[in-house]
Amino acid sequence: MRRIFNTALDLVTGFSMQSGLSAVLEMDNWQRGAIDQYQCEKFEKLREYAVRSEIYKNHVGSDLSGFLLFSKEFVQENFNRFRTNIRKPYSIEYTSGSTGNPKKVVVSKEMIQAKRIAHLKMLTWYDLKREDKEVYIGGLAQPSFKKFYYFLKNKVYLPSNNITKQKAREYIRIINRHKPRILFSYPYALDIILSYAEQMKKNLHQPEVVYTGGENMEPHIKNHLIQHFPYSSIVNEYWATEANIGVTCPSGNMHADEDTIIIETVNQDEDGFGDILITNLYSYDMPLIRYDLGDRIKLSDAQCPCGRKTMIIEEIRGRTVDYYYLKDGRRIAYMDMRISRFVDNVIVYQVVHHKKDDTFLFKYVLREHSRSMDTESLHHFFRKNLGIELYFKEVDHIHTEPSGKFRVFASI
Ligand SMILES: [Zn+2]
Repeated sequence: MRRIFNTALDLVTGFSMQSGLSAVLEMDNWQRGAIDQYQCEKFEKLREYAVRSEIYKNHVGSDLSGFLLFSKEFVQENFNRFRTNIRKPYSIEYTSGSTGNPKKVVVSKEMIQAKRIAHLKMLTWYDLKREDKEVYIGGLAQPSFKKFYYFLKNKVYLPSNNITKQKAREYIRIINRHKPRILFSYPYALDIILSYAEQMKKNLHQPEVVYTGGENMEPHIKNHLIQHFPYSSIVNEYWATEANIGVTCPSGNMHADEDTIIIETVNQDEDGFGDILITNLYSYDMPLIRYDLGDRIKLSDAQCPCGRKTMIIEEIRGRTVDYYYLKDGRRIAYMDMRISRFVDNVIVYQVVHHKKDDTFLFKYVLREHSRSMDTESLHHFFRKNLGIELYFKEVDHIHTEPSGKFRVFASI
């Protein structure tokens, strides 16, 4: 029944999922030369649309390297000059943007289709189907008519915002009752739920795949997931509003979705991390060509044991813009705040910088109330290494962003 529902839905929405999926899966067997050739042809098609925009009108015949790099600010300020106006836009979306300045992107129907197919590709890699039971933890509470839609899709949808102990208990109960084959979550939401599971001494059902997306998957969260789901494949779906970018294969490497995007990196540091630029081969309404996504990534030359020849993304370091700007002119990266060793008795924390008076508030949810947090050592560390005075506040949960996403480091 659910299969019929999905097929009917594809017909109504006009997405040709099955043929698209077969085409994308073929790439799994291609040699590098065939992938490059495919990208060249797709790029030429994109360029035909791009030259209809004011900004790219002189790029007839240019190859990719002939396209200029524009800053994110320039793209936003000249938004309309990038548009091709070939048809009514399918959707205009706003990204949350970690600095609080949302970015506007025209999303084509083909871009949405590529994302849905990329998701089906991931399920196929793991021998799963989209009709398989899924618990999805992300975003905000859904209106009740959507609940029926998710029921037909065999999905249980749970919002990821403001997870308290009570909510975590309920979510654990739901996961254990439904026994999903697929569990999705924003990484921080699941991290908090797992910490509460430890506190309450509860075990979780083991899905076949636990996949994450929406936020950067920090290494400590990945380790936490592996510890709790030893029998599950841990998969990261690296997506942005602008494109589906990559997904983890069954051998554990993240492969770029090279059917959809061309990846480049610039401004590489000595560790091999560079700013990621993407060209979305389906961005026909507002061409995203060598577009600065705002993350820093490291690409790998290694051959994956799975045999796929698409590029491997070794590590993602998230947004480059997570800095605190202090009144005295200093810029402090959140990486400088090596906090982890001070927070073993903490479920979750957040460091909030109040710009008005340059104070820092450390909010935390305590794990075991029988012992306190070592606030003195952390206070000393901040004062000595960063010259920052830290204030502490114990809370019962940390507020998420309006999108349901979590921010460890915030400025207000
Ligand atoms: Zn692989």
